[in-house]
Amino acid sequence: MRTIAVTGATGFIASHTIALLLEAGHHVCGTVRSLARPDAHAFLTGLPGAAERLTLVEADLLAPSSFDAAVAGCDTVLHMASPYVMTVADAQRDLVDPAVQGTLNVLRACARAPSVRRVVVTSSMAAVTDEPDKSVLLTEANWNTTSSLTRNPYYFSKAEAERAAWSFVEGEKPAFDLVTINPFVVIGPSLTPQLNTSNAIIADLLSGKYPGIIDLTWGMVDVRDVALAHVRAAETPGASGRYLCAGDTVTMREVVGILRGLDVPGQRLPSLGMDNAVGSLLVRLMSYTQPGGVGSYLRSHVGRAPRYDTTKIRRDLGLSFRDIRQSIVDTVADMTRWGHVGR
Ligand code: NDP
Repeated sequence: MRTIAVTGATGFIASHTIALLLEAGHHVCGTVRSLARPDAHAFLTGLPGAAERLTLVEADLLAPSSFDAAVAGCDTVLHMASPYVMTVADAQRDLVDPAVQGTLNVLRACARAPSVRRVVVTSSMAAVTDEPDKSVLLTEANWNTTSSLTRNPYYFSKAEAERAAWSFVEGEKPAFDLVTINPFVVIGPSLTPQLNTSNAIIADLLSGKYPGIIDLTWGMVDVRDVALAHVRAAETPGASGRYLCAGDTVTMREVVGILRGLDVPGQRLPSLGMDNAVGSLLVRLMSYTQPGGVGSYLRSHVGRAPRYDTTKIRRDLGLSFRDIRQSIVDTVADMTRWGHVGR
């Protein structure tokens, strides 16, 4: 049994992780931005084991020393909080600063806490590449060096945050070791009422936001597997370095096919086939009419597919991945339950 701090406890991935940690008997200290409305955290405080072993404390990524209370007395810290939005008014202020300064604020707090032995940072495949290429087999050695404030700014925030984390450990030589989990697109049932940005891809397909079936291929992973990866990273003494975390790849055409079979009330799935050379050209042209984050995402991903090697996470953390096609089905059932789709 350990005492583990989890930043951004309200998040899609964090809430599943906290549920697993409590189930395993650990004590958990979760950080939230505000405790003003306790009912807003009922999905956490109502988890089995929460009454006895979950504490929530306030912390903000941009407030130095904000995480001191949360990590004090913990042996492990899972840093999951980071803004996950594709389009913002000011990429530096709204994405990069909270991601990078927040990561450094958490690591500094951990370095000041003598009890902390392991910090697991939730990084992303966004720190690995922002332009997948079928001819490249991605591994933990790959780094995204192409994103910027104007090109895939969310990706830039994650790559910069992870780079800052490794530099901090290298420079400061703290008493803890650092592990990162780098998930691809995370989908699955949600414990929180909020619709996560990655589940929104499926909701957007159902609600008719896409003009046609585009040549996009996603590496996807179930949120329950990502949560387990974090728990294993916390519990496995020999875990080290980065871990790519992803199940299978699926094309938009495959996802649409699965969704069509589910026959969700009111669904407006795309049917126009744009997953060909002409369609991809049109998408690239149309991308310039889209908000910044979405436009650059389309330009760097259309017509491309990621290939990756997840040997390391399977071997070191004993992880296996759920069938992502079943996860899509589970995601739709869950989004229907929350009222995000099917109305
Ligand atoms: P969510 O949006 O569900 O959770 C993000 C969390 O970060 C929320 O708890 C949010 O708090 C918190 N947060 C955001 N800004 C601040 C801030 N300024 N101060 C304190 N807390 C803040 O996202 P996910 O669960 O999907 O993501 C969790 C982590 O996983 C992130 O680091 C994300 O980059 C990473 N990731 C996610 C992937 C995905 O597909 N979902 C893929 C790869 C990586 P609040 O509730 O108050 O807004």
